[in-house]
Amino acid sequence: MALVVQKYGGTSVASIEKIRRVAEHIIATKKKKNDVIAVVSAMAGETDRLVGLAKEVMDPPDEREFDVITSSGEQVSSGLVAMTIKSLGEDAISFQGHQIRITTDNIYSKAKIKSIDDRNVRVALGEKKAVVIAGFQGVDEDGNLTTLGRGGSDLTAVALAAVMGADACELYKDDVDGVYTTDPGVCPDARKLSQISYDEMLEMASLGSKVLQARAVEFAKKFKVPIHVKSTPRPEDEGTWVLDEEKVMKSMEEVVVSGVSYDRDQAKITVTQVPDQPGIAAKLFSSLADENVVVDMIVQNVSTEGFTDLTFTVPKSDFKKSIELSEKMARELGAKQVLSDNLISKISLVGVGMKTHSGVASRMFRALANEEINIMMISTSEIKISCVLEEKDTETAVRTLHDAFNLGKTDE
Ligand code: ADP
Ligand code: ASP
Ligand code: MG
Repeated sequence: MALVVQKYGGTSVASIEKIRRVAEHIIATKKKKNDVIAVVSAMAGETDRLVGLAKEVMDPPDEREFDVITSSGEQVSSGLVAMTIKSLGEDAISFQGHQIRITTDNIYSKAKIKSIDDRNVRVALGEKKAVVIAGFQGVDEDGNLTTLGRGGSDLTAVALAAVMGADACELYKDDVDGVYTTDPGVCPDARKLSQISYDEMLEMASLGSKVLQARAVEFAKKFKVPIHVKSTPRPEDEGTWVLDEEKVMKSMEEVVVSGVSYDRDQAKITVTQVPDQPGIAAKLFSSLADENVVVDMIVQNVSTEGFTDLTFTVPKSDFKKSIELSEKMARELGAKQVLSDNLISKISLVGVGMKTHSGVASRMFRALANEEINIMMISTSEIKISCVLEEKDTETAVRTLHDAFNLGKTDE
């Protein structure tokens, strides 16, 4: 008897008809002598709708009540999936996050899981029930409802697979059948990867590829949970494995770049003519950190006559707040002015092969230059190179780089 955790995303449970297909697949998996825990997201579009409702009432919304509202989408879908399984003659039971004590810290909207009490799940499995769990939900130690960040049902599934010692953790998608070299919605030439390492997947997810939640990949890496991304309409297809680097079989010729990610959710701020003195950057960035703004890239120009320009990027959702804070700091620090631009995007190349290969950056810059795409900022790490560009160039840049690094189907 194997234990299988299956997660079905919003598009897989978008209608009663699709829920029926999911229920049938859960039953089929169970009939192959498996215990099944199914984690479900809210029906497609529902979480966005709930976010919209909350913001109509209050913007920015009250943090506690926001999670009460947004976590409700998963309550409906989990009940519907469990009920559909029962209607098809198999026993099932749904649990909300608090009913299996998915205990988190109290950081609303992006709570971290501390522990899970799996007793109810084990009892239900012992009674031969299919267990359906509402993804995305948690509860803090005082009993307040919390949520695990957008895409957080991925994390629910990975955490349950780790706690329960599951034999498989399968994440089912409706509109893609695995992880691709880049978003197939932007680049039709994108190629499905049969395997990808945790580190590469983590970079791709953190750099904007919304196919998996970055925190879920981080958790999977930490607790060594292999993730199998699969297709809901074609569950028999192989999909993509996300694994330890040592377990990923590279092709004969070592792959240098594995994928291209893009992130349109960034905005850029420049504080001009900042006095070039010790402690100035610390003051500016502390004021942003104190307000929970996560600064991503930072570039400081070469100092001229004792002054310098500081440019950095922040998430678009924190853009207004960041401009206000920067203007306040600019006055305090005696800087000249604050310039801002939210029509930017970040394009990144990801690949563990970059650790040992040189020339990737120059090839990237040349490919962008050939398309007359201007690079505004650059940042690198061992396994990625990111460039900030004008937002209008996003799709051309993705396709150009995908092509320049021979990632497409035709070059297999
Ligand atoms: P789910 O609802 O099942 O969690 P998501 O909508 O979160 O599924 O993720 C699937 C989407 O991710 C696809 O629609 C696809 O356009 C997008 N995507 C972005 N980057 C990639 C990539 N590298 N590989 C596959 N899909 C990607
Ligand atoms: N429903 C949540 C969201 O849309 C969680 C998830 O789908 O994983 O972000
Ligand atoms: Mg998702």
